[in-house]
Amino acid sequence: MPEPKDKPAHWGVLGGGMLGLTLAHRLAQAGHRVTLVEGSPDLGGLTSAWEVGGVVWDRYYHVTLLSDFNLRSLLAELDLEREIQWRVTRTNFFTGSGLYPLNNAVDFLRLPQLGWLDKARLAMTILYGSRIENGRALEKYPVEEWLVRLSGRRTFDKLWQPLLRAKLGTNHSRVSAAFIWAVIRRFYAARRGGLKTEMFGYVPGGYGRIVTALGRLIERNGVRVKAGHPVTEIRRAGATLRVQTDKGGFDFDRIAVTFATPLAARVCTDLSDDERTRLKDISYQGVVCASLLLKKPLGGAYLTYITDETIPFTAVIEMSSLIDGKETGGQYLVYLPRYLPSDDPFFEQADDAVEEEFRSGLLRMFPELRPGDIAVFRISRTRHVLALSTLNYSSHLPPMTTSVPGLSIVNSAHIINGALSVNETVGLANKAAERLLAADRPLR
Ligand SMILES: Cc1cc2nc3c(=O)[nH]c(=O)nc-3n(C[C@H](O)[C@H](O)[C@H](O)COP(=O)(O)OP(=O)(O)OC[C@H]3O[C@@H](n4cnc5c(N)ncnc54)[C@H](O)[C@@H]3O)c2cc1C
Repeated sequence: MPEPKDKPAHWGVLGGGMLGLTLAHRLAQAGHRVTLVEGSPDLGGLTSAWEVGGVVWDRYYHVTLLSDFNLRSLLAELDLEREIQWRVTRTNFFTGSGLYPLNNAVDFLRLPQLGWLDKARLAMTILYGSRIENGRALEKYPVEEWLVRLSGRRTFDKLWQPLLRAKLGTNHSRVSAAFIWAVIRRFYAARRGGLKTEMFGYVPGGYGRIVTALGRLIERNGVRVKAGHPVTEIRRAGATLRVQTDKGGFDFDRIAVTFATPLAARVCTDLSDDERTRLKDISYQGVVCASLLLKKPLGGAYLTYITDETIPFTAVIEMSSLIDGKETGGQYLVYLPRYLPSDDPFFEQADDAVEEEFRSGLLRMFPELRPGDIAVFRISRTRHVLALSTLNYSSHLPPMTTSVPGLSIVNSAHIINGALSVNETVGLANKAAERLLAADRPLR
């Protein structure tokens, strides 16, 4: 597969989220001709920006961790790393009987509902999980079995299960212990000194600024960017791969599809039945997420985990507790996500109905908040966020190379030893670029 030096391959990178953008960047840096094809009018995918009542910020909330080294070095290439604002943030728990802080060891010891022994076992679980370097060995254990063994049944029922349900909905029982291991490890890394203070960062201007800078950089390096071109079909046509979009076709020598596997399976018509089935068999979690502008703050915790099942969303993210007030014109930006299996009927709910349900849940959680304090409410939804880390996940995962010569499918489903994040996404793009450009060998 390495190209003769005088004839660089023409690569089509399909999907202009952080994965596609970084991959296109790396392929262009290696001297290849690259065209990036994105379906939406704007680049960025899950990190794209949108406008809420005059405030432009991420459509879905994002933070950067001190340990996000892949992302931080990409930001350094964009000359944005030195602008990251690091802040100590706070975390709360909402159990139905009230809000409980969870910021340090003292808060932890005060957690209601759990006895001393439960707390000791919980702390041991977190510490033990954070020390495991490679989570693949945990793929064989159902998450419940692993957590009950380490933390005990009561802590699982009262804490872990509601948290898993919050992130995974009805899919929570299908994941392996590798899922919770990756989450523990990522968030443990965000806390300086283990259970001590939590530090999160952001770039002024949010991801909109990062995506714009990366888009400009790749264009300067010769990448042709075709946004607003949803791919409808990819098929082999003689020696080339032809990509059909709503607005015409492109021919490439090599293609890397970076969007979710079920979407890739739909457009890659030359795949074998077996490949198509394996791709479609990967289950995804999506999210319905509201962005709100409030006239007053909620209480200053960046993240509030919710273990009360009567609340219709699964967490509260008070972005304004992290970012400078001038980013939001002095108003308070809050996100209310509800994670769901990608085929959940809730995705079909009209915005008005979602808004009504979410508003009443928020007012119940924060009794001091008045309906008039909610100035703007906007809802976004996406069915493909996270590939579910089911039992023995990596042994079922199709390799990045397909049976169609020149066609690779590289997407976040290939993040197998970490929690979904931009940092892992950038790391995957770096690794995939190296492997795609190396000898023609299996890419996993
Ligand atoms: C609610 C939420 C909160 C998050 N919080 C954080 C956080 O705090 N920190 C963090 O690091 N990460 C966070 N993430 C994760 C992060 O956003 C993702 O890991 C990352 O953006 C994934 O990038 P991607 O390129 O793999 O996928 P995507 O961003 O989904 O990109 C795929 C792209 O393909 C395009 N596409 C799809 N179909 C077609 C087609 N047929 N033709 C052409 N283009 C197509 C899409 O439009 C999209 O632009 C969060 C995600 C969500 C949803």
